[in-house]
Amino acid sequence: MRNLRAPVFCFLLSTFYFLFSFISYAETVRLDRIEMKRDRGYDYLDVYTTGWSEAKGLLLENKLYIDFPGAVVGQPEFLKRKSKRIADIAFEQKDKTTARLVITLKKSVDYDIVNVFGRDKTVIEIGDRLDGGFTRQFAWETKIAGKKGAPLKPVKLAPVVARADLPLRGKTIILDPGHGGDDPGAAGCGSLPEKELTLLTARACAERLREAGAAVILTRDEDRRSNLRDVMSFANGTNADIFISIHYNSTENGRIAGSETYYHNPVSRRFAEAMHEAVVRGVGEKDRGLHRVPFYTVKNARMPSVLLEPAYLSNEEEYERASSASFREKLAGSILKGVKEYFGSRTH
Ligand SMILES: [Zn+2]
Repeated sequence: MRNLRAPVFCFLLSTFYFLFSFISYAETVRLDRIEMKRDRGYDYLDVYTTGWSEAKGLLLENKLYIDFPGAVVGQPEFLKRKSKRIADIAFEQKDKTTARLVITLKKSVDYDIVNVFGRDKTVIEIGDRLDGGFTRQFAWETKIAGKKGAPLKPVKLAPVVARADLPLRGKTIILDPGHGGDDPGAAGCGSLPEKELTLLTARACAERLREAGAAVILTRDEDRRSNLRDVMSFANGTNADIFISIHYNSTENGRIAGSETYYHNPVSRRFAEAMHEAVVRGVGEKDRGLHRVPFYTVKNARMPSVLLEPAYLSNEEEYERASSASFREKLAGSILKGVKEYFGSRTH
């Protein structure tokens, strides 16, 4: 009897597995119907599916992508309406198991997604973008770019181990923690000013990148402010492969929260996309989009470069999360993921 138990168990298991795969196959989720609505000054897209799929969004400049994992597009019924924000909506099969909605926008927006469990429905809410930190960042740059600062004191860190099989072996990455010294950056809602958070983040991030085989250059590793022109002429004189400026956002409107990513030069676009997706998915804050903005560092870097603003310190709840060590670890892991994704998928 004892000897029989295992084969019987295996037989049952494979039967269940077969039945389960059959049911899953038969019930592949399809996008069934999409309705466009307007209400209380927002645009809404109600997407009905034939089963449960948890949709995820990604805002890259004027395109908003909504992915439905485990779903196929099929031929959904689509009730389209005129909108001052939405220029076009297209459907595509992103890959075998992901259906994708591509929303082309006429203007800057903020969006939210609600997956209504039990009703197999996803509601996408699209409104005008609440003003964020662009203007503050520019004002800061104008004030600080030419202002005399302490001589630059960059720190170069070798990879933790030099092993041929490490994903970032041979790469040099510059991390630029924003602000420092007499420039605290955003004060935020608590005791840690932006300049401290950027430095702590850069250090956590350096560790992860070095463990993955990269050499890392920190443009500062202490509480020090150098002139932005000096930072960029130094960066451009190294043979670094990529440049990452680390900041935290802030604005007068305490309701605004979320992760934003900026780039400027076209050569940085693919890198910026990979970084924005990794940060948004990794830290789990609201997606406030990838934007092309001529900030000083990303405009003047002669290598693929991004400026990250992973959270708003002016939003109380987000400040609480963003000032914790666990957030920094998550962010460092996301940055590593984005960098690996970029180098891994690059065609030489
Ligand atoms: Zn800043």
